Amino acid sequence: MNEMLNIGVDLGGTTIKMAFIDDSGKVIEKWNIKTDTAGNGKNITRDIGHAIAQKMAEHQFRRTEIRGIGIGAPGFIDMRAGFIYRAVNIGWENYPLKEALERQTGFPVIVDNDANIAAFGEMWLGAGKGANDLICVTLGTGVGSGIIINGDIVHGASGMAGEIGHMTVIPKGGAACNCGKTGCLETVSSATGIRRLALEALGYNDSESILRAVFEEKGDISAEDVFNCAKKGDSLSAAVVDKAACYLGYALAAASMVNNPDKVVLGGGVSQAGDMLLRPVIHYFKRYSLPKVFGRSDCDRKVRKRRRRDRRRLAGQNKDHGSPSGLTRPLAPPPHIFNGIHHRMKDKQA
Ligand SMILES: [Zn+2]
Repeated sequence: MNEMLNIGVDLGGTTIKMAFIDDSGKVIEKWNIKTDTAGNGKNITRDIGHAIAQKMAEHQFRRTEIRGIGIGAPGFIDMRAGFIYRAVNIGWENYPLKEALERQTGFPVIVDNDANIAAFGEMWLGAGKGANDLICVTLGTGVGSGIIINGDIVHGASGMAGEIGHMTVIPKGGAACNCGKTGCLETVSSATGIRRLALEALGYNDSESILRAVFEEKGDISAEDVFNCAKKGDSLSAAVVDKAACYLGYALAAASMVNNPDKVVLGGGVSQAGDMLLRPVIHYFKRYSLPKVFGRSDCDRKVRKRRRRDRRRLAGQNKDHGSPSGLTRPLAPPPHIFNGIHHRMKDKQA
């Protein structure tokens, strides 16, 4: 083999996904190992190192064929130093990930926030392909996000740029967030947030509702239940969805005033709700941004063409892999900068 390979690592709270990838983005091999969070994640870098060494031996890759490792980790990260301030799901606090993984493997390592890397991946080969300015938001247990300006991930002075999930959307009386603040977007528009809003709504009144029946049967509800009940015409669930969508639309509009994106890509488990979520998000996004930012006027034709191209591409994808969720189809609303909902991020489900 002449071409150099890159190693991609996606570090999650339960699984570590790894892959050998060539420079065109083609995945040569991918595999998973479990995340061992015991002892505040002290074994994780060792496990990653061992897993890479084992796969390299299987493929008989030489060390000189590997360019380095790019790792996406959850939490607050200083990308330049490769330092994790805090990763709640992993158990790391003030952890020098870059240094530890370089020592373990002997390869150069680049560390970034997983949502930033997701944004970059979408721009490179995914739903944001062709966009130079992009916002990518992953709606799962939390709200992850990355902002791309002029083709580059924005990190800011201490690596916190693009953390839309921790944008304050309820300045007074908001729920507590994992970050230590209250009223963050994550507290209302993540799967956890939507569940909490729904439980609150059920507590406020005792009216008949499909959602209440689900709650009484299961003893709990999930964000998915809320969307399913809303689809069945349950007004309480629809009100919860509208609230979550309103805050998300507001936050996306506010963020979009900063980078005026070509595309906004929504992913993650919650985005599988499809048009049920997207329609109100677009409604509020439009309300809270400027017309030229929303993109209806100037880029109308350009977007139309792009949508046709995306439609063809997605049709091809569905043929190859079967229709994954029905959500990858081009969206019904008029041309806008939302490229759509990206099914490949569905494993980030809450
Ligand atoms: Zn927060």
